[in-house]
Amino acid sequence: MLSTGLYEDFPTLKMKINGKRIVYLDSAATTLKPKQVVKKLEEFYYNSYANVHRAVHTLAVRATTEFEETREEFAEFLGASPEEIIFTSGTTMAINLAVVSLLRSGILKEDDLVLVSLLEHHANFVPWLRLSKLHGYRIDFIRPSGRFGTLEMDDLLKHRDKNPKVVAITGLSNVTGQRIPVEELRNVFPNSIILLDGAQLIPHEPVKPKEIGVDFLAFSLHKMLGPTGVGVLYGKRELMEQMEPFLYGGEMIDRVSLEDVTFNELPYKFEAGTPNIADIVASREALRYLKETGFDSVHEKIEQLTQMALKEMMKIGGVEIYGPLDERQHGIVSFNVKGIHPHDVAHILDQEFGIAVRSGHHCAQPLMSILKEQSQIDFPNSTCRASFYIYNTEEDVKILVEGVKKVKEWFSR
Ligand code: PMP
Repeated sequence: MLSTGLYEDFPTLKMKINGKRIVYLDSAATTLKPKQVVKKLEEFYYNSYANVHRAVHTLAVRATTEFEETREEFAEFLGASPEEIIFTSGTTMAINLAVVSLLRSGILKEDDLVLVSLLEHHANFVPWLRLSKLHGYRIDFIRPSGRFGTLEMDDLLKHRDKNPKVVAITGLSNVTGQRIPVEELRNVFPNSIILLDGAQLIPHEPVKPKEIGVDFLAFSLHKMLGPTGVGVLYGKRELMEQMEPFLYGGEMIDRVSLEDVTFNELPYKFEAGTPNIADIVASREALRYLKETGFDSVHEKIEQLTQMALKEMMKIGGVEIYGPLDERQHGIVSFNVKGIHPHDVAHILDQEFGIAVRSGHHCAQPLMSILKEQSQIDFPNSTCRASFYIYNTEEDVKILVEGVKKVKEWFSR
């Protein structure tokens, strides 16, 4: 059973889908929101809302204080300084910012090599690929050689001597749930700029970019109990100081004349225009909620649910499960039921059992092609994905397993 506190904090959990209690297993797409976050939004809009960094009136000062305190709290969370925390609209914008700004500042140049893993979400794949076409840098891929898209250490080591300018890689795959050994990246690529996509990792594990030696870390608050429209880009100060801004406009400038402009200091140089003030401030509540729950217990609980789901799902014949199927797999179970399209599986799970799972290519088409190579079924270039977060229970896993068994049974009649 879910502790009463959690149950009360997430009103969505009381929802019924076709008369069944909702079993929300789509947290890798976005998490449910606790009351504390939603309450903060209302409270902030009514009592502290004004534009930030501009006016001197009381309300503006209150809003700016809360906004900057939020940045400080994220800086502390990541073991970074506030100047290194850029607020964006999400992981996608954070990564685009890094790529475009590296190019504009000439840090990433024609003929340089960018290494990108084939586990990536399109957010950490398309910008690197597309801009290589326009700007002429070389791109090479870190291919996972293990079981169904599992990245092995050798897959990284293979590229060691290529001296890439940039290495772009996820911390945890949004398809297979594999946790990448991010602590090893700096050893393998001592001279490269390393960008870590933390969209799936940070909600489960607060890795500190400076400790593990990565230069950029991007993540989205909506995947860790916060509102949509808020992302964080951590960027190493020495690099970001040299980088040209991504967006131009208000707030990011120091002086503007008819000849040229000079830029504001970090982090404002990368935050042009009015930011998503209220959602950013409410993100602090999400972070606090997770900190109070304790990241260790969040991690342990999700670990248990994942291992239980893997064990039970593996017993169902005709179900193909992707990823390593061992302790490296965390929070996500992607699968297909032989002969049934994942959209049909997901639709029936929803309609008959109230289970919300994602079906599709999960914005990771290059990885889908790799899964297809090893698949023993007629792989539909997509999977069903069940993903867990702090409000899920063993009961949820049981309902999922029973649901999948039933779907299989009905289709084989
Ligand atoms: N990277 C990964 C690994 C993701 O799972 C996601 C979201 N599915 C993203 C990037 C993109 O995040 P957002 O849509 O919040 O920008």
